[in-house]
Amino acid sequence: MSVKHENDFRLFVKNAKQVVLVCNGGERFLTKDGMQKLPVVENGSLIIGNDGLLKAVGPVDAIDARYKGASFDTVIDASGMVVIPGLIDVHTHPVWAGDRVHEFAMKLAGATYMEVHQAGGGIHFTVEHTRRASEEQLLVDLTRRLTRMLRTGTTLVECKSGYGLDLETEMKMLAVIERARLASPICISSTYCGAHAVPRGKTPAEAVEDIVHIQLPRLQEKMTKGELQVDNIDVFCEKGVFDLHSTRTILQAGKDMGLQLNFHGDELHPMNSAQLGAQLGALAISHLEEVTDEGIAAMAKSKTAAVLLPTTAYILRLPQPRARDMLDAGVIVALGSDFNPNAYCCSMPMVMHLACVNMRLSMDQALAAATINAAYALGRSHSHGSLEAGKEANLLIVDCPRWEHLIYQFGGHQELIKYVIIKGEVVYENKNTMSY
Ligand SMILES: [Zn+2]
Repeated sequence: MSVKHENDFRLFVKNAKQVVLVCNGGERFLTKDGMQKLPVVENGSLIIGNDGLLKAVGPVDAIDARYKGASFDTVIDASGMVVIPGLIDVHTHPVWAGDRVHEFAMKLAGATYMEVHQAGGGIHFTVEHTRRASEEQLLVDLTRRLTRMLRTGTTLVECKSGYGLDLETEMKMLAVIERARLASPICISSTYCGAHAVPRGKTPAEAVEDIVHIQLPRLQEKMTKGELQVDNIDVFCEKGVFDLHSTRTILQAGKDMGLQLNFHGDELHPMNSAQLGAQLGALAISHLEEVTDEGIAAMAKSKTAAVLLPTTAYILRLPQPRARDMLDAGVIVALGSDFNPNAYCCSMPMVMHLACVNMRLSMDQALAAATINAAYALGRSHSHGSLEAGKEANLLIVDCPRWEHLIYQFGGHQELIKYVIIKGEVVYENKNTMSY
């Protein structure tokens, strides 16, 4: 083993045409004016230490002068390219068996939600397949999906359980996420989502009982033993699924265990989920297609992030959430892909594009929502989400002359992303980029 000296560094990324910092004052999130024009270093370089943290970011000349004589394990010449923070996906359901491509065809042919359901489709189709699948098979599939996410520029991703709806399968799913967390380079924030739906054969009250008195205590036990590391708890707060009272009961039980609250709310019906989340100190609420003005005001005040999911609104043809009203009110807006068998997209560049076109975010706002604000929504903005000294060196080197190309070239991210770097290690290199 070689001894590392003070003047040895893991990585030197030099001569980038642009380095998009996103933040440069240690901000934990950005709202309003802070999202209008993100700070960019034109002609910049970055130094990454052996601990995987960013040591310095700045203009080429300043970095050259300061690190004269230093040695580096790896040097990347980013001439003509741009550097941005690794993207963060705050909302995914990536552990499942049995795709639903047949359902997509049915829906395109005009089938209603109920017709799909009666044909044996919907979430219960996924639940049945996931219950039957082995832990090994689920892990193989999850690993492939995480690799795809990584190649589209995601370096930190939230992963939910929630296709088990019973003790055994929920714990199996969390075990799969835990194994992936330990084995994959991508950073994972793990979420218990046992309240994703009411399982067949149970009433909502019975499901709440099972979650609060059986599943959560078992989860607590596994966390105490160090078998699982789970960060968040999620509930699908929706009419006919878990009402406001049930949602409160489950979230409170999770909060008492030290889990961060990050749940589905106000998607299909206005449920006052936003107000509930604000009251309970939720870190984030996802969806919000049907949020009210009062809900928006409550979230702005409590600093509860709104996780908007443009691909779901697009694929399900839902009304768009009122992103502009949220931004004007000072809500912390973040983005997620909602990757799941019903909305098969894991590309955050495409999510950002859809957020710009359909939800009317500017490109700066979309990037802030997919980096620093997304990190905040997972409780990680002290270490993730911007290119500032002291943070984890998770970054993308993109083969284009201005960073906005990554959003502008819809579906073109696979041609543009040259390197994905996590903690200063190159975890993906694309030798065939084609910027024009
Ligand atoms: Zn979801």
